[in-house]
Amino acid sequence: MKILTIHKERVFELVRCEPYERCDGTGRQLAYWRAACQVCGAPFEVSTPAALPALTKSKAFERVHCELHKRAGNIKKGA
Ligand SMILES: [Zn+2]
Repeated sequence: MKILTIHKERVFELVRCEPYERCDGTGRQLAYWRAACQVCGAPFEVSTPAALPALTKSKAFERVHCELHKRAGNIKKGA
């Protein structure tokens, strides 16, 4: 079964959930989502907390670019 979420008309597909242990020893689940770069269409992943309230507030879904174009976007903004 595919789990999808849509943020601002862009689709994120759930790839996997993994336990994540913080340095203070408390564990939690992280969800990994895959989306396509707005420029080249290359897939990239973002991670969010797996818990729903934190997930829906996550800024990770704001990301629209792969690693390459993320940098290019930053350079453009700075110029
Ligand atoms: Zn790209």
